[in-house]
Amino acid sequence: MKQLDISCIKRWVAKGSSKLSQPASIGISCPECSLRGVFTTKRRYYDEYRDTLSCSADCPACGVQVHFWVKDLIGQSDKDSEHQPTLYMSPAMDSHLDLSKLPDSVPANVVQFCSSTQDVYQTGNLTATSVLAQSTLDALFTEFLPVGNSRTNLAKLITESISSIELDRPLINLATSLRNDGNLKELLDSGQHTSPETADALMQLLEHLITYIYVMPEEFKKLDKQFAELNRVTNLARRNLDSSSDVDDPDADEKQAA
Ligand SMILES: [Zn+2]
Repeated sequence: MKQLDISCIKRWVAKGSSKLSQPASIGISCPECSLRGVFTTKRRYYDEYRDTLSCSADCPACGVQVHFWVKDLIGQSDKDSEHQPTLYMSPAMDSHLDLSKLPDSVPANVVQFCSSTQDVYQTGNLTATSVLAQSTLDALFTEFLPVGNSRTNLAKLITESISSIELDRPLINLATSLRNDGNLKELLDSGQHTSPETADALMQLLEHLITYIYVMPEEFKKLDKQFAELNRVTNLARRNLDSSSDVDDPDADEKQAA
């Protein structure tokens, strides 16, 4: 069960003669397919004794059923009340990155920023997610900024950190391990019999190398294409909005012609 930001409820409806409003649609990321969408609620049931409303909804993309609970609904009916209802959902969304499995070399403040960003993302607070994602990027690269360099903007911060990150370190270590006195060379030369553990370790090496050399760079390229597409859609929507507001402007045609 995961608590969500109450603003995830996009539409409230009044139910019968009751003064209490009920959530009709909820905007969340699907716990199954991760697609962000508006879930239309059904089978809404209000439990008066516990002031809790339960309802369900199907993901518009993958069809998986998600359940919701809104606690303390009476607060919602009184607009002046500071008392806000709380919203819960089950099943909870999976974390994108399991922060509990990160190596010890990741600085504590970077883990903290990542964790806070994940939390607000999962509650559906998208503006806070964007703000925290930028702070996390900042914290991540500040760790690598050479001493004496002052940070200005994210682009410059990353550029100046590249030399300290030593992205080629794994390949340098692999080459060292394959030298005559290296660990991997010794293992490969050790004899006829390959143990299951050795075969498994070699498979892991191959998987990590392919991911590191080919998969990860490709994933970053895909993300940049996605950023471009998101900008294109946003700019198009903005232009449509501008042109529809021009309709009311009698000078619009003249302005365009000029
Ligand atoms: Zn889904």
